[in-house]
Amino acid sequence: MTMDFKIIQKLYAGLPGKIRRARNLLARPLTLTEKILYSHLSEEPTRSFERGKDYVDLNPDRVAMQDATAQMALLQFMMAGRKAAAVPTTVHCDHLILARVEAKTDLAHSLSANKEVYDFLRSISQKYGIGFWTPESGIIHQVVLENYAFPGGLMIGTDSHTPNAGGLGMVAVGVGGADAVDVMAGMPWELKWPALIGVKLTGALSGWAAPKDVILKLAGILTVSGGTDKIIEYFGPGARSISCTGKATITNMGAELGATTSVFPYDERMAVYLRATERDDVAKLADAIAEHLAADSEVQEDPEKFFDELVEIDLSTLEPQVVGPYTPDLARPISGLKKDAQEHDYPDEIRAALIGSCTNSSYEDIERAAHVARQASRKGLKARTHFLITPGSEQIRATIERDGQLQALTEIGGVVLANACGPCIGQWKREDIQREEKNTIVTSFNRNFARRNDGMASTLAFIGSPEIVTALALGGKLSFNPLSDTLVNDRGEEVRLEPPTGHELPTRGFEKGESGYVPPAANPGSIELVVDPKSERLQLLEPFPAWNGKDFTDLVVLLKARGKCTTDHISPAGPWLRYRGHLDKISDNLFLAAVNAFTGETGKGKNVLTGETGHPFEDRLDILSLQEFTPGKPLTLRIKHKDGSVDEIKVKHSYAQSQIEWFKAGSALNLIAASHRKEHK
Ligand code: SF4
Repeated sequence: MTMDFKIIQKLYAGLPGKIRRARNLLARPLTLTEKILYSHLSEEPTRSFERGKDYVDLNPDRVAMQDATAQMALLQFMMAGRKAAAVPTTVHCDHLILARVEAKTDLAHSLSANKEVYDFLRSISQKYGIGFWTPESGIIHQVVLENYAFPGGLMIGTDSHTPNAGGLGMVAVGVGGADAVDVMAGMPWELKWPALIGVKLTGALSGWAAPKDVILKLAGILTVSGGTDKIIEYFGPGARSISCTGKATITNMGAELGATTSVFPYDERMAVYLRATERDDVAKLADAIAEHLAADSEVQEDPEKFFDELVEIDLSTLEPQVVGPYTPDLARPISGLKKDAQEHDYPDEIRAALIGSCTNSSYEDIERAAHVARQASRKGLKARTHFLITPGSEQIRATIERDGQLQALTEIGGVVLANACGPCIGQWKREDIQREEKNTIVTSFNRNFARRNDGMASTLAFIGSPEIVTALALGGKLSFNPLSDTLVNDRGEEVRLEPPTGHELPTRGFEKGESGYVPPAANPGSIELVVDPKSERLQLLEPFPAWNGKDFTDLVVLLKARGKCTTDHISPAGPWLRYRGHLDKISDNLFLAAVNAFTGETGKGKNVLTGETGHPFEDRLDILSLQEFTPGKPLTLRIKHKDGSVDEIKVKHSYAQSQIEWFKAGSALNLIAASHRKEHK
């Protein structure tokens, strides 16, 4: 039986009634998004909500966390005093694995380098009723799609690409750890009622065009901020022509448009995927209420009336897209890439091509990439650049190993990395180029801003579908267009690649591989949590008293950011992932990738204390002593500067003890100290 079967059964039993009441309340037909949100409200609604204005409380069905963000979230959850998470929750070990050599070597290194963190995550998960997926199991969103996502559900995840589950009809939203902790602690989750973008898909993909091209095209239309505070809802006959995993690729990358999430209506392609992943029971339940798992027919017939914005894409005429560098909305069809590269002086030589990640490592993706690779082998071609493959999950890896796709890809020079994020999150130790050497890479990932993949701003990352990236690996140049150009093989002959084909799902079913699921402990009381007080990776938190209701005032502005400022700009990943369980240490990376609006420099701001320019936290101050705090009275801090000098400052504002305690745990106190020292002078 499916893990959440009883929960899904209960939800589906109540869905028709809740949707009918919402339809009556609004006195109009409903979009799919509205159906899912109204049926997950924590209280029966008495009025309709205003899009982009009202905040509502919702009850998610599930929480998922990846290993980098789970550390702090679980450290916080420990403070809640609960015996177990209030909703089904899982932890996935995928972000901390460094890609350097190949899967086995990298995994072995990572297991030892991150042992302390993995042990902590495993034991705290077992103690608090949380499912734990070990480091070799796969990337969070692929594992969620294979095991937990279901049509009509609502989930939150502590990762931006949680919307991947929208490919299986779920409203799945990426949130911060604090939101996840609230829900795990039994509280509702607050969401700004979203505006709605309708995307009508007509026609069907053919030739080289892939689901990835739908979202790359949409990114070019809507831009990186076009989805802010909005949910993107797909519909139309073209939607049904796309596989479930293809839909997941599209919803996954909706995050690049700033969208709250993206969702597809339930259809036969989702049912087929549910059955292929051993969830026949869920498919049967969904089939029985299928009309409630899609927008009302009036919405599909007259979408202008119900969506705030409407975009139409004809899949039949869609050409493969390549986006980048530095931003996913710099889109053009592949036929325009050569000219663009010449005009903007992008290095033509591709130094690395990477396929896979949570975005594009489905069976269908790898099938189509392997189809290109098999043609290449037959025609005497090999990859002309480093070619790296990241399977999204152990289930995918084991299946494509059994079915021969991995062999096809390695035969042209591909190297298989661990089933983990690796180069997609900056966990990529490149040894093929000099530091800060200007170079081009192509990936089938989802993000391509400066430093995302290898930590180097000099790397220009372009994104395309796995089949296009594989073809570009064979061509070795950005100027190669596999749709029109030929390549010269090792025998000096001109050869052409044919459009790829491939099965959507394995005809022999999925191979499980080494299952890495660890269920919650039967006897949670027996699980001991050990955190070394001297640890650099983990730091236990201290509980603090409730907020006294007073807001902070007169705080200094640390940095005014310009342009795109995602969570990765605010708190970069890569080597910093090491400190995600240590509040004090991770605070040191604040704004490191954000662009200063005044100077255009990345990660630098003016130190209000010294007037010097540097990293906002460069002048770290260590708190030597903190006197007994009396609300309403000034507070004296003895601080030590980086140069060793000691100073005393007075904090004149009436911060509550709780707030001071909280700040003590992070660098924020240093900034307060700095600002007040300036005042004090
Ligand atoms: Fe995020 Fe990339 Fe990992 Fe997906 S593969 S979860 S996008 S880091």
